[in-house]
Amino acid sequence: MFSFEIIKQLQTHITSLRHQRTTIGFIPTMGALHAGHAALVQQAAHEGNQTVCSIFVNPTQFNDPRDLEKYPRTPHKDIALLAKVGCDVLFIPPVAEVYPENEVINRAFDFGHLDTVMEGAFRPGHFQGVAQVVSRLLDIVQPDILYMGQKDYQQTVIVKSMLQQLDSPVRLVRCPTLREADGLAMSSRNVRLTPDFRQKAPAVYQALLQAKTLADNGHSPSEIQQIALEKITNAGLKPEYFDLVDGETLLPIARFNDSKNIVACTAVWAGDVRLIDNIFLKGG
Ligand code: AMP
Repeated sequence: MFSFEIIKQLQTHITSLRHQRTTIGFIPTMGALHAGHAALVQQAAHEGNQTVCSIFVNPTQFNDPRDLEKYPRTPHKDIALLAKVGCDVLFIPPVAEVYPENEVINRAFDFGHLDTVMEGAFRPGHFQGVAQVVSRLLDIVQPDILYMGQKDYQQTVIVKSMLQQLDSPVRLVRCPTLREADGLAMSSRNVRLTPDFRQKAPAVYQALLQAKTLADNGHSPSEIQQIALEKITNAGLKPEYFDLVDGETLLPIARFNDSKNIVACTAVWAGDVRLIDNIFLKGG
């Protein structure tokens, strides 16, 4: 695996890959990698791309400075994992390389309500930060395909909108969520769960699975929302939201017949760790 910290060196290497007429599959991450990240790299490789993975803890997408400070960082383990799963290129830049002091890199995007609902409501400015770093990384890497996880469903909708606003030729591929054996969605933040909350955390996925069963059995969206919030609370966790939304507009649905794609999305506090997860209730 080739590894670069400096944009110019990365770009020289990518240019040489392009001369081999290969497509570039790009997987942006914030490190503290787990099998979910590895699966994105493997899917990109399986689909015939040279794989470029970035590790960059983007300060502009953290609305809470303590969250940024506490974000796990495991660069040595990450590099070993990427090499093991056959990643071709790693880009691991310092902050000053992505956001040089003498350059103003601040594109503003108009996401309408897409960045004010769910995660956007609880993490103001988060998605503008995500769009800023993803657009910057796309400028640097110039991939053909961008691989992102369904685990961050709203993020994939935001990035899709961003690509449209930029009139970008990059194709976005949404990859399935990898889970622990007990259903907990893999996340870099899971290492911060206390043993007690680690035991309680699978209730999030159980609530999502129950929502799917209830939807299949004709329960209304508002009933499902209420049952899910109760289930999560009864498990000793604190739900922030459990919303049933249209898969494209992210607006709450009143009836299942109103949309082709319906996703249940939730954010839950397990102690001082914030977990997010989602499931398609219809379409997908
Ligand atoms: P992060 O490092 O958390 O910013 O995540 C980097 C990419 O990995 C994003 O596209 C995430 O959606 C994706 N990802 C994170 N966790 C998982 C998971 N459990 N399964 C699949 N993809 C994931």
